[in-house]
Amino acid sequence: MVQWSGGETGVGVVAPVMPARGADAFRFTPGTALPGRLGRTGTIVTPHGEIRTPAFIAVGTKATVKAVLPETMAELGAQALLSNAYHLYLQPGPDIVEAAGGLGAFMNWPGPTFTDSGGFQVMSLGVGFKKILAMTADGIRSDEVIAAGKTRMAHVDEDGVTFKSHIDGSKHRFTPEVSMQIQHQLGADIMFAFDELTTLMNTRRYQEDSVERTRRWAARCLREHVRLTDERPDRPYQALFGVVQGAQYEDLRRRAVRGLVDMADEHGGFDGFGIGGALEKHHLGRIVEWVCEEIPADKPRHLLGISEPDDFFAAIAAGADTFDCVSPSRVARNGSIYSRDGRYNITAARYRRDFTPLDPECDCYTCGHYTRAYLHHLFRAKEILASVLSTIHNERFIIRLVDDIRESIDAGHFEALRDDFLGRYYAGRPPASTC
Ligand SMILES: [Zn+2]
Repeated sequence: MVQWSGGETGVGVVAPVMPARGADAFRFTPGTALPGRLGRTGTIVTPHGEIRTPAFIAVGTKATVKAVLPETMAELGAQALLSNAYHLYLQPGPDIVEAAGGLGAFMNWPGPTFTDSGGFQVMSLGVGFKKILAMTADGIRSDEVIAAGKTRMAHVDEDGVTFKSHIDGSKHRFTPEVSMQIQHQLGADIMFAFDELTTLMNTRRYQEDSVERTRRWAARCLREHVRLTDERPDRPYQALFGVVQGAQYEDLRRRAVRGLVDMADEHGGFDGFGIGGALEKHHLGRIVEWVCEEIPADKPRHLLGISEPDDFFAAIAAGADTFDCVSPSRVARNGSIYSRDGRYNITAARYRRDFTPLDPECDCYTCGHYTRAYLHHLFRAKEILASVLSTIHNERFIIRLVDDIRESIDAGHFEALRDDFLGRYYAGRPPASTC
């Protein structure tokens, strides 16, 4: 568990641990295999501690999980936190985070940290609320549609992406090299290569070109990563994951992974792999399986951005070791509460006099001390504590679920847990879309 030097209950400071250095400071050891599938347990060792997998990586976009203390995240079982390179680049700036001693020290989180490359945020600016990303380099017109009335905020070319800040409209440019420089300054234990975001509405031709471009960008990321690592040998080792695109196409996904795995010969290779891009819910398990079949067993596999319990079971069975999503805390702030019997909204009138916990089977601080009626009141009164208590509960619910899945693989009853959990969670209601 993540530890503070300030003791069990006090608000502490980062423990003066000496992070391991050198490339051997990062490794993955597979544990129990799920019979007949690619799913497994395992352990990721980072310079700032271990992550037992499968693991849910909580998201603190701007170097904070909104509304809760990092100590609280550790108490509710979070093993690692993921922040966003795009947001931290714009605010406060990666030089500030670096001067503070890196992301973990800056936000008082002594455990493992991740940063994503910023690619998703930068490029989703161009799609007018997640519709279509415009391509200007080779003139493919069918992929240039954007949402009506939206100003295009990002342009992709072979070398990188030019975009406008969502904060003040100022113009910026990300290339694979810039993304690596920013992520090295931020100093997270695990970083992601800069990849091109596509959507399901892009043409097959565009997806093919994008996979090739992402491969070229990945090679540039790797080269820059090696250069930066060599330049600063006194720093804790930062692992780099290649990101696999290819949308819903099996041949593209497999080609994309092989291209990244083959880079082991060129620059030492990636430490792990991220599975990104456009995913439809009913394809999720199959896509993860195609990709994981192509990845060497001793490399960890991260799935970018899922949040629904049925997706966790599908992705883990198909071979995902870690995954992240901002959803548990984001929906919490809107009063949407996870429970064993499904998700519900605490602001509904029927909870006004309900003096039971948010989820009677939950072991979190919120459920141990507060009632639905109290949370209902806090939300209706627009009190800040509503966000605090609901976030604690939702993050604990998801982290505990993934912990239970991990234990079920070790104990040999994964299917029994899946059928029992999902049967009750979705009783009478179809699963929702993932994040
Ligand atoms: Zn709870």
